[in-house]
Amino acid sequence: MSPPNLKITVLGCSGSYATAGGACTGFLVQSPKANVWLDAGPGTLSNLQEHICLSDLTAIVLSHEHADHWLELPVVYNAIRHYVLCDPIPVFGTVGTLDLAKMMCEQIEESFNCNVICDESSLTIADQQWRWSRTDHYVETLASRVDVGESTMVFSADTGPEWDLNSLGEDIDLLIAESTFLAHREAEKILHLSARQAGLMAQNADVGKLVLSHIAPGEDPEKHFEEAHKAFKGEISLACVGKEFIA
Ligand SMILES: [Zn+2]
Repeated sequence: MSPPNLKITVLGCSGSYATAGGACTGFLVQSPKANVWLDAGPGTLSNLQEHICLSDLTAIVLSHEHADHWLELPVVYNAIRHYVLCDPIPVFGTVGTLDLAKMMCEQIEESFNCNVICDESSLTIADQQWRWSRTDHYVETLASRVDVGESTMVFSADTGPEWDLNSLGEDIDLLIAESTFLAHREAEKILHLSARQAGLMAQNADVGKLVLSHIAPGEDPEKHFEEAHKAFKGEISLACVGKEFIA
C-alpha cells in the first residue's frame, strides 16, 4: 500500500503548559518526500524521536514566539551541534521567534538555517506546499496550510475568534484547531478559541475533519468534544500524544 499524501502525528497538544506525562504543542507532518516538525513545544523532542531521527527532518516550522510552541528548539540546537552532526535543518518562523532563538543559540547556523515567514508567505518544502496566515493573537502568530496532492490540512496555531480561516482558502480535509477554553469564558475576550468557536470555524469552512488541540490544563476534554460537536456536524477527534491523522 502506498503511503498517504499527508499524515499528521501529534507530538504534544497541551495548552500553555504540559501536565504530567504530556507535552506542549507539536506535530509531525509527513508526506512521501518530507518530514516537517510543526511547532516544537516543550516535551515534543522526545516524542518526535519515537517516529523519526532528527537527521531525517526536512524542516521545522514554528507558529509563534510563545514558549509553549517553540522552546524545544534550543535543545535541538545542542543535539545537532554536538551529537547528531547532520547538515543544518531549515527552520521557518516569525521574526520574533527567530530573534529569540538566535539569542539562545549563539552559533545557530551550525544547527539551523533560519528563514523568516510572515502573513501570506508561501513556500514548497519537498512535496509539501505551505501557506501562512496571521491569526488573532497577542504576538505575530501564523496559522499554516499544507497541501500535498489532493490532501490539505490546516493548523490554526493560537488564535482568537477574529481570525478568518478562509484566508487560507477552501477544501480543507483536516483542521487542527486550538480549543483552549469552553464557551462560558468567551466574554473574557482572551485571544484563544473556545471549543464552540473551534466547532463553528470548522462548520463555516465545511472542513472534512476537526481535531481539537491546545486544551488548557484543568479543562475536561470530553466537554470540549461535546461543545464543539454542537457547532460542527462532521467528524471530531481530541488530539492526544501519538495519535495519527490522515488528511
Ligand atoms: Zn500563544
